[in-house]
Amino acid sequence: MILNGQRKTDVEIDAKTRLTGLLGSPVAHSLSPVMHNTAFQCLGIPYCYMAFDVPERALKTAVNGLKSLNARGWNVTMPDKTAMCALVDQCSPAAAIIGAVNTVVNEGGILTGHVTDGSGFMKMLKENRVAVAGETVVLCGAGGAARAVAVQAALDGVKQLMIFNRSESKAAALADTVNRNTPCRAEAYALADQKTLQTSLLDAALLINGTKLGMAPETETSIIDTPQWLRPDMAVADLVYHPRETRLLKMARSRGCQTLGGLGMLLFQGAQAFELWTGRAMPVSVVAKQVFHMEV
Ligand code: NAP
Repeated sequence: MILNGQRKTDVEIDAKTRLTGLLGSPVAHSLSPVMHNTAFQCLGIPYCYMAFDVPERALKTAVNGLKSLNARGWNVTMPDKTAMCALVDQCSPAAAIIGAVNTVVNEGGILTGHVTDGSGFMKMLKENRVAVAGETVVLCGAGGAARAVAVQAALDGVKQLMIFNRSESKAAALADTVNRNTPCRAEAYALADQKTLQTSLLDAALLINGTKLGMAPETETSIIDTPQWLRPDMAVADLVYHPRETRLLKMARSRGCQTLGGLGMLLFQGAQAFELWTGRAMPVSVVAKQVFHMEV
């Protein structure tokens, strides 16, 4: 069978099929099952991916069950990312620093926790030829997604990270985490300090929105209101993927900046998990076309 120009192999679920999946609650809206199952089918490899609605109080029982069944691995969504840290045997460097796990790999009963949100974001930058090593990056937000991106960007060689958040104390805590654990220098400010934000953008290679501003239904909100603060030679990334093009990205496009929407990060964080479980690269262009109806 041919799927979007790629050979698709019909893989039967049989005695050799390895189980992967998603734990969290709610999970019914998740695109992860269709992303991963499309990729397994496309490569013709014996895996399947299921979504399991597991309340936080049942997480440990679910993990023990999956371990007993020798599941290959699983993703974890909010609010379980922190709790999962305590349930694995070891963590990747980024997951240990952040204290959160979104992907678990089961190697013969030994569970390793990874956080692919940050590594997926960095991979997406690389695929789009946005180079940030040795550069200054401005990051708005200090929640779960922003923390993952900040730590991975710092581990991957960003020289300076300017962090702006509505709650300045959370920005300060994230800057402290970065400064204590990586060679990157991080500074923290309140998002309301728009003067410093404007100045910081003068020499930043990349601006990232990691807040919920711009997310539906509040699509008219944005971390900045003045397009002129954006330089045409900088890149602007938004972690928000609903809508696909936020008000911030529209402003950035109108200024001639390279823009990167949140679906790219969603795709590549899944691709990183896929590779950890299967040892194979996810066919991202097929998944992007089939699941997100976009080109990568
Ligand atoms: P979170 O942990 O709840 O953090 C929310 C962040 O948004 C915090 O920094 C918060 O500031 C800020 N915020 C919320 N409302 C705000 C407002 N009215 N004004 C200013 N700042 C505001 O959420 P998250 O998981 O990090 O998600 C953040 C965004 O990233 C969401 O839109 C989510 O859909 C998206 N996301 C995308 C991906 C992807 O793969 N593309 C993955 C994960 C998340 P305070 O700290 O001051 O509350």
